[in-house]
Amino acid sequence: MSEHDHDHEHDHDHEHEHDEPEEDARAEAEAEARRRFALGQIRQYGDPALRLVAHEVVEFDDDLRRLVDRMTTLMHEAQGVGLAATQVGVLRRLFVFDPDGEGSRVIVNPVVVATKDETATDDEGCLSLQGVRVPVERAVGITLEGKDANGEDVRWELDEYGSRVVQHELDHLDGVLIIDRTDDERRKEALSTLRPRAVLR
Ligand SMILES: [Zn+2]
Repeated sequence: MSEHDHDHEHDHDHEHEHDEPEEDARAEAEAEARRRFALGQIRQYGDPALRLVAHEVVEFDDDLRRLVDRMTTLMHEAQGVGLAATQVGVLRRLFVFDPDGEGSRVIVNPVVVATKDETATDDEGCLSLQGVRVPVERAVGITLEGKDANGEDVRWELDEYGSRVVQHELDHLDGVLIIDRTDDERRKEALSTLRPRAVLR
């Protein structure tokens, strides 16, 4: 999921030690270059990997830990708040997420163990669907159980924005995208944004 959805709390308290505008501008340009480079390594709409169902992870080995590290770096450099393995072309059931900027977390083989009945609709973006933001209805709370990168049990109880982010990433593991979850009108609009780009690829 892309950070643009993070409307409340968009100023990340970047305490600049220096207030020189030139250095700030350079840092911003570098962050933007890094964001675009990261997005270039994330599968984009039209890529079949985004429509496939990921498989359970069975081996918690160095390969898995390297994958988690790579996904975490890509998520942060792309300025996202969540990234699923399918988005880097790996059909395994795991994703990283960092909804509150307080540090990235990972869950492998996530299982939903509880979902609140109450739902809310809000705009979502996706690192794989650049330029698209559509309203999606999600449960306002969710509890997940799974493993960390070392195979240890983890349990995450998430509310509101965090709940939205993990439901978005869970969808990715089943080949489901936000355009599948929005209304017909917004889907058509989104597809007209995405199609020309898909053809150019
Ligand atoms: Zn996404």
